[in-house]
Amino acid sequence: MNAAAKPAPAPVLAPVPAPAPVHYRVDASDTHTHRYRITLTIDQPSPFQVLSLPVWLAGRYMVREFGRHLSGLSATQGRAPRAVQQLDKTTWQVACRGSAALVLQYEVYAFDTSVRTAFLSTERGFFNNTSLCLRVHGREEQAHHLSLVGLSKGWLVATAMPSRSAGARGLHYAAADYGELVDHPFELGPFWRGRFKAQGVEHEFVVAGAWPGFDGQRLLRDSQRICEEHIRFWHGARGKPPFQRYVFMLNAVDDSYGGLEHRASTALIAARKDLPRVGEASLGDGYLTLLGLISHEYFHTWNVKRLKPTELCRIDHTRENYTELLWFFEGFTSYFDDLALVRCGLIDGPRYTKLLAKAATAVQSMPGRRVQSVAQASFDAWNKYYRQDENTPNATISYYTKGSQVALCLDLTLRREGRGSLDAVMRHLWALGTERGSDVVAAAGARGLRAALRDPGNIGITEADIAQALQAVGGRSYAAELKAWVHGKGELPVADLLPTVGLAQSREAERLSAAWGLRLSEGPVTGCVVRQVLRGSAAEAAGLCAGDEIVAVQGWRVRRLDDAAQWLAASLAEAGASGASGVSTASAAAVAAPPKPRSSKAAPLTVIELIVNRDQRIHTLRLQPDPQATRLPTLQWTLDEARIKADAACAERRRAWWSPSA
Ligand SMILES: [Zn+2]
Repeated sequence: MNAAAKPAPAPVLAPVPAPAPVHYRVDASDTHTHRYRITLTIDQPSPFQVLSLPVWLAGRYMVREFGRHLSGLSATQGRAPRAVQQLDKTTWQVACRGSAALVLQYEVYAFDTSVRTAFLSTERGFFNNTSLCLRVHGREEQAHHLSLVGLSKGWLVATAMPSRSAGARGLHYAAADYGELVDHPFELGPFWRGRFKAQGVEHEFVVAGAWPGFDGQRLLRDSQRICEEHIRFWHGARGKPPFQRYVFMLNAVDDSYGGLEHRASTALIAARKDLPRVGEASLGDGYLTLLGLISHEYFHTWNVKRLKPTELCRIDHTRENYTELLWFFEGFTSYFDDLALVRCGLIDGPRYTKLLAKAATAVQSMPGRRVQSVAQASFDAWNKYYRQDENTPNATISYYTKGSQVALCLDLTLRREGRGSLDAVMRHLWALGTERGSDVVAAAGARGLRAALRDPGNIGITEADIAQALQAVGGRSYAAELKAWVHGKGELPVADLLPTVGLAQSREAERLSAAWGLRLSEGPVTGCVVRQVLRGSAAEAAGLCAGDEIVAVQGWRVRRLDDAAQWLAASLAEAGASGASGVSTASAAAVAAPPKPRSSKAAPLTVIELIVNRDQRIHTLRLQPDPQATRLPTLQWTLDEARIKADAACAERRRAWWSPSA
C-alpha cells in the first residue's frame, strides 16, 4: 500500500433487505397414498441451517414425535443440491453457500383421523402444521406463509389462518410467526359449512362426514347460544372476543370423541350418531356430550390459549413443557363448559345437576386420588394421564374431573360467603392481561394498538396469581383451600356445599362391577373381560387382575356381569337365612384354592365363587363383597326444592349461579 496515497473513502453499505417470509407450499394432490408434498423456501438461510419438526402439540401433553412421518428430505440452492445431515430423529441441518434461497422438499405421510396430526384421503384432508411445517431455527419470530395447491375437484378449505389471496396458483395464507402458523389447523374436503354471528363476530362451522339428514341449522343455533354466553362471561353484554373470526371444524366418524383448542379455531371429532337430526327436537345424551365439547374447546380460547401457565408462554417444541396448573386450565374449563349449557338454556337444572354428579362419581371411582394431588397429576400428565393403561385409575387422578370439582367447591364457597363468584375470579385474571400489558405493547407495532388491546396475546399466570384473584374477589385468603384441594389428597367437601345451592346428594344402587371395583369390557362374543382392577377393592382382594375373563359366577356362565346380580341376590338371601357367618378373608392366595362344589347349601355364600380364564388357564377365585369404604359410590344429585322454598338466600344463590352471564 502506498503511504502517500489518499485514504480510500469508506464503503457505502447497501442496506441488506429483510428476508422474505418463510414459505411452505403444501401439495394435497396425493390423496390415495395419504401423502402431503411440501416445498419449503427459506430466503437468506444460515450457513448451517437447522430445521426440526415439533415433538408435541400444545393442548395434548404427550411427546408424539411427528418427524416419524416425514421422509425424502432434499435441499437445493438455485440448481445446486445441498447436503442434508440428520442430527436426531426430528432435526436436520443443511450446509448452505451464500444467501441464495434454500429450497427443501419432503413429504409427510398423513393417515391419522384424530385431531392431533394429519390426514389425507380421497374423502377429506386435515392437518396441523406441527405435522407438516419444519421449524426453521432462528427464523421463528418472522412471518410464515403457506400456499395450498393440488386440491381435489370440489374441495373446500376451512381455517382461521388469515388468507392472503386466492388465485390460479393456489390459496395463500399468512401467519405472523411460527407459533401462529402451528396454531391454525386446516380442514379440506367437500364438507358441510354454515355461519353465524356471536356478539357481532363471524363464526364458521364446518362438518365433514355427516350422515344425510344432519340438522346443521340446529347445530349453528345451539353453538351460537354457547358462544354468546362465553363472550358475555368474559367481556360483558357489549364486549367483543379476542379474535376477528372463529372456525369450528368437526370431523364426524363412526365412533370417536375429542377436541383440540386453538387461538381462533378448534378441531373436533365426534360420532355421526351424536349429530342432531332434522325433525328431532329432543336433546339426546350423545348430542349433549357434543355440545359440552363445543363449549369446552371454545372456553379454552380464553382459558389456556391466552390466559396460560407462564411455563407455556414460550413453547419449547423439542421436549415436554411441564406445568402444575392443568387442574386450573383443563379442570376449570371442564367446570365452565357444562355450566354454560344451563346458563344459556340448552339444558335445565336437573340435567345439569346430573352432569355434575357424573363428574363427582368419576373422581370417587379413581383410587389414584389418594396417590397424587391434582397439581402432581398435572405435572405428570406427560407420562400418566396421556399414557393410560390398566393401572391408571390407581396411580393418578384426572385433572379434568377433579379440577372441575375443585372449581365447583371454590365457586360454591365464594357464593356461600357472599363476596363474589368464580366467574369474577376468572375475569380478574383476564384483566391481568391489560394490567401487565407487556404483550400488548410488544405486539402493538405489528398489529395495531386497537387489535392488540382486544387480543392481549399471552397472559402468563402462576398459582400465586390464582390465589391473589381469589383473595381479591372473596375478601380473604383461600390458601388453606388451595393447599387441601389442589395439593392435598383428601376428599373434597362437595357434599357439604351442595345444600348451600339447594342440591341434595344420595347414592344410587351400584352395578356389580362398580361395587366390586372392576372396570370391564363385556359382550356376547368376547364375554366379560377385566380391564382395570381398582386399588383396595373386593376384586383386588379376591386376586382378579387385568386381562382375566370372568367365565362364571357362583357356578353360572356369565357374559354380562350384571346378569349375575339376579342369582346372587337369591343366593345371598338364602345364605343370610341359614345364618352363615365366619367367612374367611378372600385373598390372592385363593387363586390356588381348589374349586368348590357348585351352589352347595353348606357354602358360605357371602363369599362368591368366580371361575376365571387367565391366559388359557382356569382359576377359581373367591370374592367377598365389601360393604365398607372400598365400595364405589355412584352419586346421585337432585334438586332439593323444599329447601329452596324454605330458604330465600339459598334460592337466590342457585338462581345467580345458573343465570346467563350479563
Ligand atoms: Zn380441554
